[in-house]
Amino acid sequence: MKPSFEKLEHLLHGYKTESVALVARASEFAERAHEGQLRESGVSYFHHTFATALILAEWRMPPAIIAAGFLHDVPEDTKFSLGDIEKNFGKDIASIVEGETKLSSLKYRGRERYAENLRKMFFAIAKDLRVVIVKFADRIDNLKTLDIFPEEKRRRIALETLEIYAPIANRLGMGDAKGQLEDLAFPHVYPKEHEWLTKLIEGKLEEKSQRMEKVQRIARDELGRAKIQVVNLHGRTKRLYSLYRKLIKRDRDLSRVYDLIALRVIVKTTADCYAVLGVIHNRFKPLKGRIKDYIAQPKPNGYRSLHTTVFSDDGEIVEFQVRTEEMHEDAEYGVAAHWRYDEGRRSAAPSARQLKWMEELARIQKELHDREAFLETVDELKIDFFKNRIFIFTPKLRNHAFTLYNQAVHDRTGD
Ligand code: MN
Repeated sequence: MKPSFEKLEHLLHGYKTESVALVARASEFAERAHEGQLRESGVSYFHHTFATALILAEWRMPPAIIAAGFLHDVPEDTKFSLGDIEKNFGKDIASIVEGETKLSSLKYRGRERYAENLRKMFFAIAKDLRVVIVKFADRIDNLKTLDIFPEEKRRRIALETLEIYAPIANRLGMGDAKGQLEDLAFPHVYPKEHEWLTKLIEGKLEEKSQRMEKVQRIARDELGRAKIQVVNLHGRTKRLYSLYRKLIKRDRDLSRVYDLIALRVIVKTTADCYAVLGVIHNRFKPLKGRIKDYIAQPKPNGYRSLHTTVFSDDGEIVEFQVRTEEMHEDAEYGVAAHWRYDEGRRSAAPSARQLKWMEELARIQKELHDREAFLETVDELKIDFFKNRIFIFTPKLRNHAFTLYNQAVHDRTGD
């Protein structure tokens, strides 16, 4: 498989000439640096960095981030150093690449109770949200070539994705990244469940979307009559892993999941969102307790939309999700929406949500910094350190603690 330069070129359509030139220069540099290198999958190393950059271009990230995507494995895996990158691409891009290298030594070993610590460390090490964005693209591509690894390694990487990467993407409101990470990791962590679910929904999606066509047509007509400008009205299919999580909560009963496919209405203004809700409720009977106003009360990760579930004329249960274009972009890209390449709609000033995240990041970093001993551990990145040790701070309990310690070490070496 060859890298598709045409595709990249197409994605960079609308970028300034000098932006495209920067990306091209990073691509050439990475190709030269990784020349002749094959990954364990047998695919060229350059292909991986190309694929990473392509994902970043799909998210419409600025040229510096796409360039960093091309260069992210250079210092670690080639004869070129971070200094070389700085010389050729400047301090800013070099600092993103440095973050990637540092982050790559953070590994999750499958111990649930350390997951939150690791998520915090991930932030502390990344320092810059752009580093996190590039890391997500890198991980998404790595998950696509996981098959060649032995089962244990595959499982570890996929589990780390579900426990560390996806929750962080979720907290950053990056719905698209979270969804891709989860769906790619899912079959490796829960192969049997994945197979079960794939079989369960086989054919169901087609069937459901056909039954929803009529509702969609009626909704479109009604909204037209009400003179509401609809930017887009489409059916969206629930992501597989997210569906799996919901099914588990619903006793694995698919008929109790109402948003297998939902109808998404995108409009111009917040006032239009409420107007759409009015039109829908006037035409279709809403289900009790299923109206959710995430515009007035956004989810903790900033998600905004109106949700409602209604009965169609044929008794079909259909969920509607109503939002503005900006809310839609925020739901897909979260904090990364701020960096989306000049589309003329957003100002350069950070959004309220972006600021909230900068504050949160600063808070996490301060918290970790205050616990200096902990931070030294972060710096050394000897995460395994936690694995076989227990720390006891109470002198009085020393004897008892010693027993516990031995017991714990014994337990762990046993598993
Ligand atoms: Mn990589």
